Amino acid sequence: MKRFFAAAACAAFLTGLTAGCGPAPAAEEASVEFYAMDTAMTVTAYGPGAEAAAEQAQSAVNRLESLLSRTREGSDISAVNSGAGAPVPVSGETAGLLNAAWSFSHATGGAFDVTIAPVADAWGFTQAQQHVPAQDALDALLDAVDYQSVLVEGGSAASAKVTLGAGQAIDLGGIAKGYASDQVAAVLAENNVGSAMAYLGGNVYVRGAKPDGTLWRIGVQDPQNAGGFAGILSLTDSFAITSGGYQRYFEQDGKPYHHIIDPKTGYPASSGLISVTVVAAGGEAAAGIPGSGTMCDAFSTALYVLGEEAAIDFWRAGAYAFEMVLVTGDGRVLVSEGLSDSFEQEADSGYTYETIGRAAP
Ligand code: AMP
Ligand code: MG
Repeated sequence: MKRFFAAAACAAFLTGLTAGCGPAPAAEEASVEFYAMDTAMTVTAYGPGAEAAAEQAQSAVNRLESLLSRTREGSDISAVNSGAGAPVPVSGETAGLLNAAWSFSHATGGAFDVTIAPVADAWGFTQAQQHVPAQDALDALLDAVDYQSVLVEGGSAASAKVTLGAGQAIDLGGIAKGYASDQVAAVLAENNVGSAMAYLGGNVYVRGAKPDGTLWRIGVQDPQNAGGFAGILSLTDSFAITSGGYQRYFEQDGKPYHHIIDPKTGYPASSGLISVTVVAAGGEAAAGIPGSGTMCDAFSTALYVLGEEAAIDFWRAGAYAFEMVLVTGDGRVLVSEGLSDSFEQEADSGYTYETIGRAAP
């Protein structure tokens, strides 16, 4: 973890007869870099209150990891997974997030499904060793994949309980970082931070404008060229959350297998998309409540599973306020209309660019 706190170097230049420093400009900057939820994270805040906000943001993410991690003993999720079908008491926050996950599963016809956990385990994604599982093993595990068999009682109340169906286990890996970005947004709001950027491993939140007054520029990674970009988004007060097979995968017999599983097949999704970025306005972030970041994270995973056509239909249906950038395996970048003014093409990326309109052609 790295921390720094700096007042901007005195660069004020007074025209006229004198040159020198005026009162120190209020461009305080505080940044925390840390590792949590299996990924490198950075939160940078500017202005008065920046240092406290950055520190509280890091604590909030660490607290959520202890609550939501599958692999940490004592987390709500490990308790639920070892509950053997009996009701397990959880925090109201965990129950609220599971209720949000349920609604995103429902909205996407089960393409997003936190009960994918036993299948993800069979591929070894939570262990050091990964391998292609036998089809009959997968078939048996798929029987228990069904978000509708997870019973959440007590809503967000303190008496919340979760009961899993037979053979079920849950994994919030597809939504937890997005929820963490919502909670970082809430911390920044509570501290009245006007300008900040949070990078939680593929999950980006930007608040206000950059200290120089310009928009934040967020690169959409080129899934086929590490370090390259498929385009750049210029945003303010928004979440931009990307899912891609390139983010975590292994190879067996020369073939890549990635970590986003299609709940229909039990195999890594092969929908033709190689990355999905979902963008939504920041809105009013609230402590302990899933917001737009959670939605973006669930939908980036789900749309990756659903593929181009279904993703476009889902966006066009308009039930949820979001925009998206889809990158296809055959070299196209599809940008939904609402991002036309925010998206910059990358000249030498080799991709062709298309805008997706609201109406079907
Ligand atoms: P993301 O990077 O947000 O797309 O999430 C991928 C992670 O979510 C994986 O590492 C798994 O932990 C989990 N996951 C994989 N497939 C699914 C799915 N179809 N629905 C929900 N979570 C999933
Ligand atoms: Mg996700």
